[in-house]
Amino acid sequence: MAKAKKSKKGELNIRKSMALFSDALKIMPGGVSSNARLWQTAYFCPIYTPCTIFAEKAYGSHIWDVDGNKYIDFRLGFGPIILGHGYPSVTKHVQAEAEKGTIFALDNELELTVAKQVKEMVPCAEMVRFSVTGTEATMHAIRAARAYTGKEVILKFEGHYHGGHDYLLWSTSPPYDTKDRPYQQSMGIPRAIRNLVMVETWNNFESVEKTVKLHHNKIAAIITEPIMGNAAAIMPKPGYLKHLKELCERYNIVLIFDEVKTGFRVSRGGAQELFGVKPHLATFAKSISNGYPISAITGQKEIMELFGPGKHKVTQGGTYASNPLSLTAAEATLSVLKNREVYEQINNYGRRMMKGMRGILKDNKIHSIVQGHPAMFQYIATNNKDVIYNYKELKSNYHADLYAKVQYWLMTQGVLLDEDNQECFYTCLAHSTEKTLKPALDAFEIAVEKALNSKFKMTRFKLEGTAKVVAPKGNVMPSQGV
Ligand code: PMP
Repeated sequence: MAKAKKSKKGELNIRKSMALFSDALKIMPGGVSSNARLWQTAYFCPIYTPCTIFAEKAYGSHIWDVDGNKYIDFRLGFGPIILGHGYPSVTKHVQAEAEKGTIFALDNELELTVAKQVKEMVPCAEMVRFSVTGTEATMHAIRAARAYTGKEVILKFEGHYHGGHDYLLWSTSPPYDTKDRPYQQSMGIPRAIRNLVMVETWNNFESVEKTVKLHHNKIAAIITEPIMGNAAAIMPKPGYLKHLKELCERYNIVLIFDEVKTGFRVSRGGAQELFGVKPHLATFAKSISNGYPISAITGQKEIMELFGPGKHKVTQGGTYASNPLSLTAAEATLSVLKNREVYEQINNYGRRMMKGMRGILKDNKIHSIVQGHPAMFQYIATNNKDVIYNYKELKSNYHADLYAKVQYWLMTQGVLLDEDNQECFYTCLAHSTEKTLKPALDAFEIAVEKALNSKFKMTRFKLEGTAKVVAPKGNVMPSQGV
């Protein structure tokens, strides 16, 4: 294929991406290996809806697509990149380790080193086990909670995502007006599991208390994202996480913080350090290694010890668990993240982005909220709210269409985001060291103005075998995929 011509600023040339996507559709269902990568709106997808673009490379705070477009990256791989893409010390460690072998199926001293780093940084970490993905970590954590309590039901919250396994793929992104609770997010999940899941509205002190009082005999664990990061960015109300901890202590329920997104991102010790609430178990992944596949389950010794060997113990493990490449990436990443100044720098950048975005939205007379944490935040254009506290409030209020248009115009200005606000703006160290604040805010200002004022002109490419555009109208529900 001929090398693509780089887009001029103001135009979006994604011709090569679209040609590759057209091929991908023929061999990969949906053209992707993960449904969450598909963007749903026609503003961005000139040929297929949904679609995605093809990445070429990423370095520091930037990502390049195959058409040569360079973007300031606020997606950061859905959160893992906390230092910057290809952070030199991490890459160096991984390269050196690869020379020594990639998989041993034996213990490895690096395992011990990283476990000690996690224990030093994370308040609840008395013992640590490693796995590969966030999905595995939450799956094993709830298994341990069930074994520890002898109970089976897991209470989770609407709009919280904990991975793709059958036990927790419920009510992660339901239609906002559905009465179906728990809402099954995928075909193929056994119906019987419905009886093992309870779903509550987050940030509502009374309803969760009422449910726990009524059903505590069955509830093994409450699992929560301590900051919601899969439905824009929603902070816990003051005292809410403590309230959950107290309920769990009172009723012999294991409190699990799923810190896959917040861990090593919102502070050195994750959200549990930020809010001063120690869960019984916590799961980590993403920022622990700046982009390599590793996750960790950690928490109270008494529960963690169930993972040991023996007849009545809990199975956890896998071929790629604690592989040396991911471990060395984690060691190098945590060695940087143990310095609190790194977080000050990331947060300072994020705060200034949030403030700048607020000003731009206000100048354009868009009633909107910019909320969350400076390392993971989101703007929500809404008619009548000043803070969003839960999934339903988010989905019944925000202007999906405007968001999708802004995303399109941001791409033309060299900034990459998703087209719906289910994910956050993620910030990393490289955003601040590479001085991307002004370019990002300038791009946001132009994108907002264009989204409001210009008549939308969609680029169409003529390619072999193109599918018909099915442009969703009005508010668009995000994908229910993972
Ligand atoms: N928990 C949370 C909070 C997540 O955001 C995610 C993924 N976005 C997961 C678990 C699942 O992680 P993975 O994709 O690595 O399986």
